Amino acid sequence: MQEKRRIAIVGAGIAGMALALLVRKQGHQVVLYERAQAPAAMGAGVTLWPNALFVLDQMGLTQQIVQAGGLPDALCQYDHQGTEISALSIKQLNKLSGYSTVTILRRDLIRLLADALTALGGVIRFNTSVSHEEIDGLRKEYDLVVGADGRMNSAVRQYLYPQHVQPVYQGVVNVIGISKAEPGTLNNSICDFRRPGERFGIVPVKNNFCFWAGAWRSVIEKNRPGKSFYHELNQRFSSWAEPVRSVLKTADTDAIQGIFVHDLDTLPYWHKDNVVLIGDAAHASLPTSGQGACQALEDAWHLSELISKYDEPSFLLSTFYQRRITKATAAQHSGRQLAQQLFFEHNKIPSESAALPLKELSRLWMQGLAL
Ligand SMILES: Cc1cc2nc3c(=O)[nH]c(=O)nc-3n(C[C@H](O)[C@H](O)[C@H](O)COP(=O)(O)OP(=O)(O)OC[C@H]3O[C@@H](n4cnc5c(N)ncnc54)[C@H](O)[C@@H]3O)c2cc1C
Repeated sequence: MQEKRRIAIVGAGIAGMALALLVRKQGHQVVLYERAQAPAAMGAGVTLWPNALFVLDQMGLTQQIVQAGGLPDALCQYDHQGTEISALSIKQLNKLSGYSTVTILRRDLIRLLADALTALGGVIRFNTSVSHEEIDGLRKEYDLVVGADGRMNSAVRQYLYPQHVQPVYQGVVNVIGISKAEPGTLNNSICDFRRPGERFGIVPVKNNFCFWAGAWRSVIEKNRPGKSFYHELNQRFSSWAEPVRSVLKTADTDAIQGIFVHDLDTLPYWHKDNVVLIGDAAHASLPTSGQGACQALEDAWHLSELISKYDEPSFLLSTFYQRRITKATAAQHSGRQLAQQLFFEHNKIPSESAALPLKELSRLWMQGLAL
């Protein structure tokens, strides 16, 4: 390649900002359209597994991410009273993969991406909601239009699928929050407490900050305020292990959010002409996949690599779909499968680490990520 392109990205979330950064580094012009007034701080935190760190490393952000986040040693599963069921060595997984696993508050990750992009001269137009009717105009103005506008109401997805693709509610609410735990309450492991039908996960970050999520089966309660879940959390989890009760005690109640989690069925295509979907807009998976943001970052890296090699949009974008569809679909399926076992099949408590040897897990996650 050749010509510098003009690229429009709808949505300044993880996928949109990552792609913007990577293509700016290649010298392309990029404009991000974001409906929020400022970098979106929605949500609590994310665990970035080694495949995500591979991409962040290509962006030159490893040091900043590691400084802002935590480096967990293990992922431990317990029953609801705190008896250990299984443990996965994250240290070992990192060693096999060649990259770290980092836990980070979402506001810190988004701030880091936004700062790095601004430093490279990327433009973010906040307060600008793009509708599906406007995509045709963008398509003519730019060489490439990328829909990174999330799982629920992606305008770019609606443009590509005028018959409208409905995200699927999987019958589970995730109530998420942030706590500054009492010193000594948490160890350096991601802790996953389970009993049939309910789950509470705690993810340590640093300086005693952690993010957490309680999840259970529920019908959708539209417009229920986040704060109103606090009482329910305390009731549901009152007899659970000490770390669960402790993080609830110190929770920042203003930051609590209830998310009635939807995902997408696998889409048969992600592009048409010079318009393409990435991240959750293309292949949203349930939080039980643990891979949504990681896969969004992988999309950004693969697409930027292809942009650097190929000019012709239809070849470029169909190659992108072929490269990404299997892995992204695997994350969607594994999220659904684990949610089904956890919340709807009451005869067993599944254990991921027992299911997949570390070597295999590392191989799966790092698949397709080579320079
Ligand atoms: C409870 C929970 C926990 C999770 N934990 C993890 C985890 O530990 N690890 C992990 O890898 N993933 C995790 N995920 C998944 C992860 O959060 C998502 O996969 C990731 O945020 C997807 O990024 P995205 O950029 O595609 O979409 P989003 O983050 O949704 O960003 C979309 C952006 O587009 C903007 N936008 C939307 N519509 C428009 C429009 N019309 N015009 C302009 N802008 C628009 C939005 O304001 C937003 O800024 C979790 C998800 C949930 C719900």
